[in-house]
Amino acid sequence: MAEIKCVGILTSGGDAPGMNAAIRAVTRSAIYNGFEVKGIYRGYRGLITGEIVQFRTNNVSNIIQQGGTILKTARSKEFMTPEGRVTAHETLLKEKIDALVVIGGDGSLTGARIFAQEFNFPIVGIPGTIDNDLYGTDTTIGYDTALNTIMEAVDKIRDTATSHERLFFIEVMGRDAGFLALNGAIASGAEAAIIPEISTEVDQLEELIKNGFRKSKNSSIVLVAESELTGGAMGMAERVKKEYPEYDVRVTILGHIQRGGSPTAADRILSSRMGAAAIDALLDDQRNVMIGIQDDKIVYIPFSKAIKNQKPINRDLLNTLKILSI
Ligand code: ATP
Repeated sequence: MAEIKCVGILTSGGDAPGMNAAIRAVTRSAIYNGFEVKGIYRGYRGLITGEIVQFRTNNVSNIIQQGGTILKTARSKEFMTPEGRVTAHETLLKEKIDALVVIGGDGSLTGARIFAQEFNFPIVGIPGTIDNDLYGTDTTIGYDTALNTIMEAVDKIRDTATSHERLFFIEVMGRDAGFLALNGAIASGAEAAIIPEISTEVDQLEELIKNGFRKSKNSSIVLVAESELTGGAMGMAERVKKEYPEYDVRVTILGHIQRGGSPTAADRILSSRMGAAAIDALLDDQRNVMIGIQDDKIVYIPFSKAIKNQKPINRDLLNTLKILSI
């Protein structure tokens, strides 16, 4: 295996709070271990256009508490073409970067896997996504912060929901994963969560109504994961208006507020551990793996597993939510 002297680092896909803490950890741990570090701006796009800066320890000073990513992030269509990836490889050769640390979600790690195979290039991935939808890790960078943001937003919405005796559908992110909706519902004391994982098994709206969810309450809050499978909060509200017109229904889509803000302590610690672990992985001759955390221990998950497998939700939580909402 060729010796690694210089490590490149980039953030890709949707930003997530804690990415900066991970950039800091990768940079400092790499320098501590004698590597050179280069920051690649705007994800894979920057790899193609050559937006690259040498990083020293002070490039990552005072960022652990900042949301977003100082490296910026982007979605690059060009990187999805073989020609784009050839250009990206040429940039790496020109910049004398011998290994990459990619912080991003499912799509970013899919791109990393393809690139690593095509050019036999060492890459270590760090799961950075608020969706928590990567297999092989108990949690992902940004998930805890987003969950806390959702909880605080729902607390506020509850005040108005209670005053007006309304049924609120609150849409949260998650693409095709219900982690934010389900755990957000438990954390905020919501009545139910509508999630994609069980959408083909039960009609979740009917279950909700059937369980008499408004019997003893003067307001109801239901968290809905954004997904074609659930129809989102709008889809739910339209159904209620048609099928149960007696309810006064309202919709709130939390949107990008969920991505922002200063990372929680849990996310800062997770990012710091994963960032340092990415450099340990390279020192260990690990290639094309994602850093994961399982039962509080760092693990290496091959890209193929992390991307291809669907991470299951904890179904016990559905029952807990049901019991606690009576
Ligand atoms: P999030 O979970 O927050 O949306 P993500 O990493 O899944 O983050 P994507 O937009 O899916 O975000 O992917 C980010 C980038 O990764 C894409 O813009 C593209 O450059 C690259 N990428 C994704 N899929 C592929 C692929 N099949 N081949 C090559 N590159 C890819």
